[in-house]
Amino acid sequence: MSADAPLAERLATVDAGIADAARAAGRDPGELTRIVVTKFHPASLVRELAALGVRDVGENRHQEAQAKAAETADLGLNWHFVGQLQSNKARAVRRYAHAIHSLDRDSLVDALAATDAPPLEGFLEIDLSGEPGRGGATPADAERLAERVLRTPGLRLVGVMAVAPIGAEPRAAFARLREVSERVRSLAPDADRISAGMSGDYAAAILEGATHLRIGTAITGKRPERG
Ligand SMILES: *Cc1c(COP(=O)(O)O)cnc(C)c1O
Repeated sequence: MSADAPLAERLATVDAGIADAARAAGRDPGELTRIVVTKFHPASLVRELAALGVRDVGENRHQEAQAKAAETADLGLNWHFVGQLQSNKARAVRRYAHAIHSLDRDSLVDALAATDAPPLEGFLEIDLSGEPGRGGATPADAERLAERVLRTPGLRLVGVMAVAPIGAEPRAAFARLREVSERVRSLAPDADRISAGMSGDYAAAILEGATHLRIGTAITGKRPERG
């Protein structure tokens, strides 16, 4: 695919790839949610995507997400916060986000507690790399953290999320995430979503049960340099 293929074409190509992977996995493509990660790109791109029918968009930095969500508030999009989040920004993220994919520690969960706001969807982020300093809870900590989310007003536990570690075989990594998902579902049967799969590995994620795909560059094109 050429680097300057128009946005509509890249979106259609990815959606066809998602449908193919779903069929290969014996799954219904209609049960998958494709989130377009628009980080580094201007709000005008979000508007173009919305005109093409995109409803779910993702960002990984609070300031950028907040600004774009405000600039495109008229579109009624679902904003997914997918990056590491400092606890002191948690309440601000609540104001525009529909879901947060990076619940990875008690302090962040506690900071998102609210009794006066609509429930925010939360995914537990699981670190599959085993390297310290990465975002994400350890697989062994998943059930404990899930219980904390279940006790937190204003948060609705919907599932788990992970990024495949660099250099690892993605399908094997996503298989481990699926095992974590099964353990979490034994505590919270409704938390059946799996947020996994990016531009380079969404087919592997779909084979391992991903329900929410977070796709950036394959749709948006190369990211501009961050100023
Ligand atoms: C940037 C990002 C993505 C999208 O990555 P691409 O490789 O551009 O598809 C997905 N998930 C997270 C957490 C990201 O930060």
